[in-house]
Amino acid sequence: MRYGGIEAGGTKWVCAIAGQPGRLEKTETFPTTLPAETVSLATRFFAENGPIDALGVGAFGPVDIRRGSPTWGTITTTPKPGWADTDVAAALRSGLGVPVALDTDVNAAALGEWRQGAAAGLDTFCYITVGTGIGGGAVANGRLLHGLLHPEFGHMRLPHDRARDPFDGICPYHGDCLEGLASGEAIRRRWGRPGQELSGPAVWEVEAEYLALALVNVVCLLSPQRIIVGGGVARQPSLLPLVRRRLRELLAGYLRAPELTDAGAIDGYVVAPGLGGNAGVIGAIELARDAACGRS
Ligand code: ZN
Repeated sequence: MRYGGIEAGGTKWVCAIAGQPGRLEKTETFPTTLPAETVSLATRFFAENGPIDALGVGAFGPVDIRRGSPTWGTITTTPKPGWADTDVAAALRSGLGVPVALDTDVNAAALGEWRQGAAAGLDTFCYITVGTGIGGGAVANGRLLHGLLHPEFGHMRLPHDRARDPFDGICPYHGDCLEGLASGEAIRRRWGRPGQELSGPAVWEVEAEYLALALVNVVCLLSPQRIIVGGGVARQPSLLPLVRRRLRELLAGYLRAPELTDAGAIDGYVVAPGLGGNAGVIGAIELARDAACGRS
């Protein structure tokens, strides 16, 4: 059996084919433009490099992943031009003629990290991506977490100290939610340049403050055994050490686990992805494998 996977992000789509777990046979990446063009590039990739037996998709969202919903597989309220109410799953299924499994891009990345990366052997953890936007997926008690819709870590509301950071935030729905204050796009708008061109402690201390505040909420609500932080912004080398330190300070010793109280142990608690930038597409392939094996 050969499986296809798409990490269908809001900025780029990564397509890959694999047979054996962990062995990507072929990959291709292209920018996310308008839906018809983007879907057509993906179907062409699989037509040229296939055949595949099933396709897994980790989609940017919000996306309807409710089983039995008449709009299952549809990207819903995105502010991304042209994509609101796009039925991505149906377009890919009709283009390729194979079963399509679908979850959020961050749940797919969590699944990839669970099977082959930094969350192997755990049963409750989360994966957060800090890139152009911010999203989070989770496994709770050994299952990908869906609930009412699906988690939207990026839109949690945080204390916003306007004396320290007068920036209003950029989320079109909430202004200064986590994504509005701490996404790569928020960094670019606040400081006038993208994060990779910025240095100096102020930039990354402000960023770490928001991420640490968000992780406090995640720790208190989900009690994850590990938190994986991926995405382009998180690759800034000074960021994760600052986040770990502030997370420990903000929790203030209330939760008694060495991972949260010990300056050394927390290094293994808030970690970078084990699969690097491939977590999403590897997880998408695992979604396809699970669907074909009747595990989902
Ligand atoms: Zn928001």
